[in-house]
Amino acid sequence: MSSINRDELRLVLEFYRNMGLSSIYMDEFRDEKSGKTVGVEEKTEALEDLRKNIIGDCRKCRLHEGRKNIVFGEGNPDCEIMFIGEGPGADEDIQGRPFVGKAGQLLTNLIKKMGSDRNDVYIANIVKCRPPGNRNPLPDEARTCMVFLKRQIEIISPKVIMVLGNVALQNLLGTDMRITKVRGKFHDYNGIKVMPTFHPSYLLRSPKDKWLTWEDAVAVLKYLGKEIEDQPAAGRRA
Ligand code: SF4
Repeated sequence: MSSINRDELRLVLEFYRNMGLSSIYMDEFRDEKSGKTVGVEEKTEALEDLRKNIIGDCRKCRLHEGRKNIVFGEGNPDCEIMFIGEGPGADEDIQGRPFVGKAGQLLTNLIKKMGSDRNDVYIANIVKCRPPGNRNPLPDEARTCMVFLKRQIEIISPKVIMVLGNVALQNLLGTDMRITKVRGKFHDYNGIKVMPTFHPSYLLRSPKDKWLTWEDAVAVLKYLGKEIEDQPAAGRRA
């Protein structure tokens, strides 16, 4: 993240506004929904407040019993793309960071292929504590923890959310649809574009489907108007 502070940033944007580029000024400092001033620092502070003062040492569901660490999520609070998985696994529980195991490496590779790195995007999960034995989160656990994720999304306000796997898809969108039916098409979460795609753990088991995930990523990049170096070819196997 840039080391420029908020006052310096404001001066730069004031300069551009005085040059007649008022849209840059508005985009940087106005939240479209609330009309309030929102910048990187406010987002960072709001996330820190959520982590320390609201989640704290959360014991609202049974998943706290076996956890080593709460895995809050990490990345750029001012990102365009947010990735949401289902929950921490063993490696994530130990390190307190999302997607750091083998599946995480696959996600990191995808992010790189999309022209970004992990510091450009934000990565989180439906539940913040590891379900025992890596089982799926139960509906009441997901429902309880989603309050925190919803607040994270509200603060970050990404342009696109890529949901990874059925658990993330179904809990975020409140649907029983499955990834295989809905991947590749944009959905909506409170005005934010949502692209469902396969969970990296599935891709470790079924690498033949990696090209489908790349197709989904390309659709996201096109929506964001970004350059795409490696265009997918229909039916290609990665
Ligand atoms: S999974 Fe979420 S709701 Fe449950 S204890 Fe952990 S932080 Fe709290």
